[in-house]
Amino acid sequence: MNPYYQRAEFLLSAARLSQLPPYEDAREVAFAGRSNSGKSSALNAICNRRALARTSKTPGRTQLINVFALDDQRRLVDLPGYGFAKVALPIKAQWQGVLTDYIEKRECLAGIVLMMDIRHPMKDLDMQMLDWCQALELPVHILLTKADKLKRGPASQVLFKVRRALAEYDAVTVQLFSALKRQGIDACHDQLDAWLDLEHPDTGGPESA
Ligand code: GDP
Repeated sequence: MNPYYQRAEFLLSAARLSQLPPYEDAREVAFAGRSNSGKSSALNAICNRRALARTSKTPGRTQLINVFALDDQRRLVDLPGYGFAKVALPIKAQWQGVLTDYIEKRECLAGIVLMMDIRHPMKDLDMQMLDWCQALELPVHILLTKADKLKRGPASQVLFKVRRALAEYDAVTVQLFSALKRQGIDACHDQLDAWLDLEHPDTGGPESA
């Protein structure tokens, strides 16, 4: 368990890019996925915090970009969950605008962690997200979440199938993940370390290296 991510603190919620902190000298990794894909549970598990991402579920914040600071330059960004049919259309258009703006224009965005429920991977909106990231040359790391819901054999089969289906995408990686069983956290930390340019994560971050 990499202790660096435990220091994540809620910084702010933003409805527009202009409300985000400066991007110069910063690095951000954004978390995306369909509603109910296990995004909040994954963020909590990755940061080893019980209720960090509860903030993102607070009424009024679900359609906002919620930013968690790791240090002055590094942030984890929780993007609005997509594909939630009950959201009224004008609101949907508004948050999709924020999502679009963030992914297309945020210059310090180093990569996207994309959550997919292992029982329902690669839905239309997920594929749209992947195509879009590919067009933007933005790397994506997929977490097949709730892996504990399948036995080991079937879970590996889904992993294999998803990997094969995405072989033509340039910068897409995939792993199994379970917040419940705390499976796959180290592998995910390794990817975050690379994107956030953390050379000495085991010692608690570059400051103490
Ligand atoms: P979000 O809407 O994408 O933020 O998803 P949540 O993190 O709130 O999770 C959605 C549902 O899936 C909740 O009922 C969680 O308890 C459940 N869930 C999330 N992660 C796991 C997991 O690793 N294993 C299992 N079995 N259930 C999970």
